[in-house]
Amino acid sequence: MMKVISKMNLKKILIDKIKQSGGWVNAHSHLDRAYTLTKKNFKYSYFSLKKKWYLVDDMKRLSTQEDIYMRMEKALENFLIQGTQALCSFIDVDEIIEDRALKAAQKLQKNYENSIKICFANQVLKGVLDKNAQYWFEKSVDFVDIIGGLPAKDDGKENQHLDLLLKTAKKNGKIVHVHVDQFNSNQEKETEKLAKKTIEHGMQGKVVAVHSISLAAHSKYYRYHTYQLMKKANLMVISCPIAWIDHNRNELLTPNHNSITPVDEMVPEGIIVAIGTDNISDIYKPFSDGDLWIELRVMLEACHYYNIDQLVKIATVNGLKVLGLKQT
Ligand SMILES: [Zn+2]
Repeated sequence: MMKVISKMNLKKILIDKIKQSGGWVNAHSHLDRAYTLTKKNFKYSYFSLKKKWYLVDDMKRLSTQEDIYMRMEKALENFLIQGTQALCSFIDVDEIIEDRALKAAQKLQKNYENSIKICFANQVLKGVLDKNAQYWFEKSVDFVDIIGGLPAKDDGKENQHLDLLLKTAKKNGKIVHVHVDQFNSNQEKETEKLAKKTIEHGMQGKVVAVHSISLAAHSKYYRYHTYQLMKKANLMVISCPIAWIDHNRNELLTPNHNSITPVDEMVPEGIIVAIGTDNISDIYKPFSDGDLWIELRVMLEACHYYNIDQLVKIATVNGLKVLGLKQT
């Protein structure tokens, strides 16, 4: 009997094509919190996202600028080894960390300017509407390349949160990355809201939705209606596959789906999708090690999406587009 050994090494094919396209682009991360997992705080990993927004405060309060720099550098070196051409990291800028992460980020950008293109966005873990939060938000605007948002933090005032982000970005000629639809629930409609606000502010092509998991929990009619709206807004998306694949089982009845950005539907609809690692070895994602191949593998498996050329674009050129480093 003839032995048949497959010559199709799909991982090698993908990795080679990614190299030929200049290397990986990690479009979403939080390097300032990477490797902050300890024996003591590991137990917080089971807490809800909204609780974790506060549970990181102690770690942030105790972090010196040098600590933050060391963490960011370690994470960056990990991406350089993988052949990453560009990366975006959110950095906490608020009354707890003040400007220490921002200063560490400045140093990192300077030290690595010849090795990799690094973009920074401001993480507004305290929202942007509270007086203190707004002070730190405004203080970070000049330094960051990208205005970051988290409307769920200003619960009930999401529209005001988005208005402030979009106005600030427009005034300063910057693009916007907003964490939306993170809870895998059909009660959330943040991607739709962001697309509408993008059009209202005339910011088409300058806004990126980070995650958009909850879209997958809605009906097909709602999903495709939202894709049309996203196209009108030229709203792009960053999917962080491992970040939300761990959503807890619940008894809500929704269309059958995996807890991940519906990449398999968005790409054929003409929506630009990029990939990011999100958190690395912290209380949000204790086991995540920032391996971009693992992220891409989880995405293609969870979405049952095998289009090699599109997967390569997701890992490379689409990342440059969402970071404003390449025209859309
Ligand atoms: Zn994030």
